[in-house]
This record gives sequence, C-alpha cells and structure tokens, in this order.
Amino acid sequence: MVADKAADSSQENTEKMDVLTSTRAVVKDALERLGYPNELYELLKDSLRMLTVRIPVRMDDGSIKVFTGYRAQHNDAVGPTKGGVRFHPDVTEKEVNALAIWMSLKAGIVDLPYGGGKGGIICDPREMSFRELEGLSRGYVRAISQIVGPTKDIPAPDVFTNSQIMAWMMDEYSRIDEFNNPGFITGKPIVLGGSHGRESATAKGVTICIEEAAKKRGFEIKGARVVVQGFGNAGSFLAKFLHEAGAKVIGISDAYGALHDPDGLDIDYLLDRRDSFGTVTKLFDKTITNEDLLELDCDILVPAAVQNQITEHNAHNIKANIVVEAANGPTTMDATKILTDRGILLVPDVLASAGGVTVSYFEWVQNNQGYYWPEDEIEEKLYKAMIKAFNAIYNTAETRGIDMRLAAYMVGVRKMAEASRYRGWI
Ligand code: NAD
Repeated sequence: MVADKAADSSQENTEKMDVLTSTRAVVKDALERLGYPNELYELLKDSLRMLTVRIPVRMDDGSIKVFTGYRAQHNDAVGPTKGGVRFHPDVTEKEVNALAIWMSLKAGIVDLPYGGGKGGIICDPREMSFRELEGLSRGYVRAISQIVGPTKDIPAPDVFTNSQIMAWMMDEYSRIDEFNNPGFITGKPIVLGGSHGRESATAKGVTICIEEAAKKRGFEIKGARVVVQGFGNAGSFLAKFLHEAGAKVIGISDAYGALHDPDGLDIDYLLDRRDSFGTVTKLFDKTITNEDLLELDCDILVPAAVQNQITEHNAHNIKANIVVEAANGPTTMDATKILTDRGILLVPDVLASAGGVTVSYFEWVQNNQGYYWPEDEIEEKLYKAMIKAFNAIYNTAETRGIDMRLAAYMVGVRKMAEASRYRGWI
C-alpha cells in the first residue's frame, strides 16, 4: 500500500515536471516565432527568484508540525510580481515555478502592469482546524515577508485558499509593516479592502470566453450542454453563470466524484449544499468518476479543478465542441494537439482564467488610491479586458494557423520580453 502510494506520487511528480517542461517548450516556440533571441528564453524559462520556506505551526494536539512552502517570482521587468497561494498536499517547487510563468503570461494577455508570481504550501487544509490554518497562513507571511509587498510581489487566493486566509495574511503583513497595508494582498473580504466582483471574477472571465468561443462556433449558450469539472470558487460560480444564461449544466464534479444528469442538474441546490472546499458529491449515492465526466457528450467542457486532466489517454474521447480551461494546466501539450487536430476549439488557461488576476489588479488599484468602484464598473472593465484579449489571441491563431495556446503565449510574452530588453537585461 505504502509502495503504491509512493509510486503514485512519483508518477504525479513526473507529470508535474512535464507541466514545467512543456510550458517552457511553448514559451520557446512563442519567442522564436516573435523573432527574439535565445537569451530571452534563457531568462524567461525559470523564475528570477524562488524562495523555499519552513513554517512551524503549533497544532491543536499541542505538537509542532513544520510545513514547507514556496514563493516564486518569475519576472518583474514590467512591474511587481503577482499570483495566488495554493494550499494543497501535491504542491511542488516545479509546479509553483510553472504557475508563476503562467501568471506572467496572463498579466501580459490582459495587459496588466505586473509580472507573474506564485506561492504554495504542502498541506491538506481539509484536515486542519480553523486555528491551525490561521497559524499556517500567518507563519507563511512571516517567512516570505522580506520579498513580498504592495510594490514587490502581491499574493492572492488559489486552490484551497480563500478570503479569510487572505485576511489573516493581510493582518500579519500589516503588523510586520506597522501600518494597515491592504494592497499587500488581493482577494480580501470587502470590509478589509476587497473588491466587488473579485470572488466571481475568474468564472466571469471564463463565461465571457465561452460566449465568444460559442459565437465563433455558431451556437448560443442558451440550451447548450455544459460539463464543469471542479465545484470550487471557479467551477461553482461558472456553473451558476452558465445556468443563469440558460445553458443546461449536465455534469459537475469535485475531488471525490462527479454528478451527471442529461436533463440538467439542479445547480441552485448544489450551490446551496457545497462546502467551503467545493465538495458536494459526497452527499449523493449515484455518482460517476471524474474520468467519465470528462468524456460525457456535451457542447462545452470546462476543466475547473486541477492540472493534467485531459491527456493523450483521453483526448480522443472528448466529445465537446469547445473546451475552455478555467483551471491552470488541465490539458497536456499532447492532448492540446489531439484536440486541435480533431477540430475542437481549445481556449487556453492563460486566457480563460485571466479574469481573476484582472479583478485582483482592480482591487490593488483601489487599495492604492483609497477609492472604491461599484460592481457594475468592475464588470464593465473586466468585460472590456477579456474581449480585447480573446480577440487578440483568436485573431493571432487564425492569421498564423496555430492553436490558441501558442497564440496566447505569443500575445502574453511580448510585453515582458520588451520590458526586459528596454531594461538592458538582454
Ligand atoms: P477551489 O479550491 O475553490 O476548488 C477546487 C475544486 O476542484 C474543488 O471542487 C475540489 O473538490 C476539486 N478538485 C480538487 N482536486 C480534484 C481532482 N483531483 N479531481 C477533480 N476535482 C478536484 O479552487 P479554485 O479557486 O476554484 O481553482 C480551481 C482551478 O482554477 C485551479 O487550477 C486554479 O489554479 C484555477 N484558477 C483559479 C482562480 C481563482 O481566482 N480562484 C484564478 C485562476 C485560476
């Protein structure tokens, strides 16, 4: 049993190493097509800085547990780095590195004055108490405090972290800094300087991409059959928005299994019953697996959970007309090729999920100016940014005859490449 577990985890690590390796391959391809020299690739293939920290936390039983965490800062030529903090048992340094590169690309795609950053702690928050999570969140901020800050590197929520965790982190940083510093972190509760629309921003951005992709494919959201993998922040809001837009959400899932109803699931009921970690399927006896979910007959498939879900093993069986990646890295490069060759329109993660960092940027701007915008203003600004990015990438893909992932990397890498050159780094 232990040996099996070890084998599983070593296979997972290999797959994660591939996430970084394959990300680098697309960055290299994008830079070459844009005519940049190889030195630029050498600069951008890794994070400028990667800090590993050890965080001692007193657990509820009185023992001390020491957690390992990371903070990566990919490139700060354009501006401070920015990116979420993930609490998950499978976090690795390589994964955090790849996620930081993706954040740089996202910032370039939606034209934000940022570079990419990312953080992660190896832990399972589902098995920790509120008090233990607070200790871990505050300990992480103390450990990384010297390299982060509102003009250096600005964290945010990611998998299994939320506005409460952002609030503890902001409070800890403000204590260290000796003044109230809401611009240190985004994704905060509204009363602590959070922005309207931040909680649902990723899903809003994904919805805008789905609408645009459906238009290109000549069908409407109303009546379309949708499958969403993951029912956390991104997946649950997305299911809600698509349900409200008249789509039939026929499948959803969480880490424990999936639900399927060809006539459409009762999304309002599921939203009401999900817990704060995005778990809902445990309440049902009749479930299917996440693997079966991905292969359901549908018009729109949205992976909104974790990476490496669509691979060369199942890409041939995907039946959707469009696949829109709300999660980071859900489709491997081999699978990207298979889906594209099969005529499936794949809207890549660095574009589709850029709504989160866009509204995080709005939150940071509001914190810095001390003046807050109403929700409709945020929505309008987000809509404009996403439509502009979608069209720039779709048109690049069409003109050059390439898939939207490579087109997105080409659009995303340009600003960072130019800024690095103007600074004289290359
Ligand atoms: P979350 O923690 O709120 O929810 C994650 C969901 O995925 C939960 O329903 C969980 O049960 C499910 N899940 C976990 N492991 C799974 C597995 N092995 N198989 C199937 N389901 C699994 O996380 P989130 O914030 O919704 O993030 C989801 C994805 O979207 C991640 O890849 C994240 O990086 C990406 N993303 C999120 C944001 C954001 O603002 N929340 C922004 C950009 C990208």
